[in-house]
Amino acid sequence: MSPVAINIERWKAADIVLLDIEGTISSISFVKDTLYPYALRRLTRLAHESWEQESFQELIEGFPEETRGDAETLIAHVEELTRKDIKAVYLKQLQGKLWKQGYSNGEITTPLYPDVLTILESWLAIPKKLAIFSSGSVEAQLNFFKYIEIPQLATAELSQKGNDEAATDVLETHPTEEAQVDESKQDDTSRKCPHSPSATNPDSSDLPSSLSTKKTKTTTLEATLNESPPKTRDLNPLFINKFDTVTAGSKLEKASYEKICEELETVPEKVVFLTDNVKEATAATQAGVYTIVVDRPGNAPLADEIFDTYPVITALDQIHL
Ligand SMILES: [Mg+2]
Repeated sequence: MSPVAINIERWKAADIVLLDIEGTISSISFVKDTLYPYALRRLTRLAHESWEQESFQELIEGFPEETRGDAETLIAHVEELTRKDIKAVYLKQLQGKLWKQGYSNGEITTPLYPDVLTILESWLAIPKKLAIFSSGSVEAQLNFFKYIEIPQLATAELSQKGNDEAATDVLETHPTEEAQVDESKQDDTSRKCPHSPSATNPDSSDLPSSLSTKKTKTTTLEATLNESPPKTRDLNPLFINKFDTVTAGSKLEKASYEKICEELETVPEKVVFLTDNVKEATAATQAGVYTIVVDRPGNAPLADEIFDTYPVITALDQIHL
């Protein structure tokens, strides 16, 4: 049996593309190796430093009572859930809140697979609408999409400019460590984070005078490209809605996809779902939603029979218009 081809008629009939995140548009590794450890580190610090504080207790109020006895019990429980990748709703809610801080202070930015942004914009132009269904909380999704890395844009811009001119742009977009150290000496409330509007479009008078010298510009260009955080863009406006396991239900149940169609005021025949998870593909298909499986590097290998059941793509631009 040959692999299943994409049903172009179903694709054309769809008004809405519903997207999974992890393993579909962003790597599983980013979630497991960056986001999960960040949340665990931050929780550990907060649990040790702020256990008695009301704000911390509110943060963990959704956890089962037996896990909230003391900091070590709580941390051990979260470590176990994280290690086993158990998508408990209360953990997802907590992670969303912990990541929010990491995103807003510039510690975390979101990488998408390189094909994703261009193709999503081309689908919007057809036009199709885009929505998200992820086990990450809606709050986590909002932050995930608010700080999307666009490093390729920075590189393209630089290749069109002379080194000197480019250095000026880069330095103005991303203050060097030297500049950030200088800023850290200022009052904390005035310290710019890499995502703040003033950081992406700074008043040059904010920069230390040393950055205005040609010598500094040229000698720090390479270091700046390697060390500074990538430019980011807020992609939230691309999506008409975002769903999680609280607002839609389990990703493994047919009813969740039916509910999403209702919420989007459409019928399953007008929705295409993209996911790396075959169980999710099965549930969506049972609901009548046409599903394409996405097979990215680092995903769990797909069984041979999956290729006989679903169209499988390795990049979104393989869906030809
Ligand atoms: Mg996934």
